[in-house]
Amino acid sequence: MAQLDLSSITKRYGDFYATRNLSLSVEDGEFVALLGPSGCGKTTTMRMIAGFVEPTEGSVHIGGRDMTNLPPWKRDTGLVFQNYALFPHLSVAQNVAFGLEMRHISKSDIAPKVEEALRLVRLGGMGDRMPRQMSGGQQQRVALARALVFRPDVLLLDEPLSNLDAKLRLEVRVEIRELQRKMGITTVMVTHDQEEALTMADRLVVMRDGEVRQVGTQRDLYERPTDSFVASFVGRSSFLHGTARDAGQFLTRGGLQIQCAELEKVLFGPALLSLRPERIIVDSRPPEGLENVFPGEVSFVSYLGGLLDIHIQLAGDEQVIAQIPNRAEAGIPQIGDKVFVGWSAASARVFSDPDRSAS
Ligand code: ATP
Repeated sequence: MAQLDLSSITKRYGDFYATRNLSLSVEDGEFVALLGPSGCGKTTTMRMIAGFVEPTEGSVHIGGRDMTNLPPWKRDTGLVFQNYALFPHLSVAQNVAFGLEMRHISKSDIAPKVEEALRLVRLGGMGDRMPRQMSGGQQQRVALARALVFRPDVLLLDEPLSNLDAKLRLEVRVEIRELQRKMGITTVMVTHDQEEALTMADRLVVMRDGEVRQVGTQRDLYERPTDSFVASFVGRSSFLHGTARDAGQFLTRGGLQIQCAELEKVLFGPALLSLRPERIIVDSRPPEGLENVFPGEVSFVSYLGGLLDIHIQLAGDEQVIAQIPNRAEAGIPQIGDKVFVGWSAASARVFSDPDRSAS
């Protein structure tokens, strides 16, 4: 177990930067998830930690030791890939033993270590089976046992659950997290699945174009995103373009005047206001006690079971999406219903507008 430090790592392919000046510290025993759109450099970052890709600049330290120029087999990193990558012609036990043999562990030590690793992932006694005799979830657990068997300092999970069906994903997600906690192993995971990242990781790293945009807990990212990209990438938001003015006011392009507590801190000028869907109250009468109340018309309703997504058209061609609990007694709003929406001045976040500040 060890702390992982990436210091200003850049990976260049010709003129293209797969990662740029990326720094990240993962505490001993911490579970961090890398999130970001396709091509933002997540896998490249993982490969640099594992030693399969050499950084153009910067360094990788594990447990305080400089690993930047060491080959993968000299780093104590355990890797689990999306496609399990088990050897089909080797038994489960032989697959798990492979990493130990590579490390020249004595034969007599290998068998008990393999059995212990299989027990850890709840596959005790199944070492003689072949991979084809195992389900997808079991194969992924074999891959996990193979990564854990030599007690690596850092566990790297690259989309480890994406080949599993939805129900199994939930199960294996919990299993991996519990095991990671129990072993106290420093872990970095890449995932496309936000919910997976939100439920498994201690902290999330949001990346874009090879750079880290924000690192924080789920709550930090959801409630205090540092820019509109993070606000749109983590959770959902309605965005309104407009102008930030003094005295806590935001004027939308369509002419709505919105009270916004946060405006004391932002630069005035072209801006983007973001609202989380559950912060918007929808009612047939004007909601009380809120600084922002506007009449609107329901333009779309998504029925999500316990929750309803209500799209509401406001004056000036503005639209917001509210998420409300599905309460039988309140009825379900219908398209065309005239309603009021409301939110507090503290609910909105305001960012400089990337489209307009670039122009
Ligand atoms: P995804 O979510 O789609 O897996 P990612 O965030 O993991 O994407 P990377 O695989 O790290 O992204 O790739 C980052 C960028 O670097 C991409 O634009 C990719 O095309 C580019 N890239 C990766 N490897 C190479 C390479 N060997 N040569 C040139 N470009 C590369």
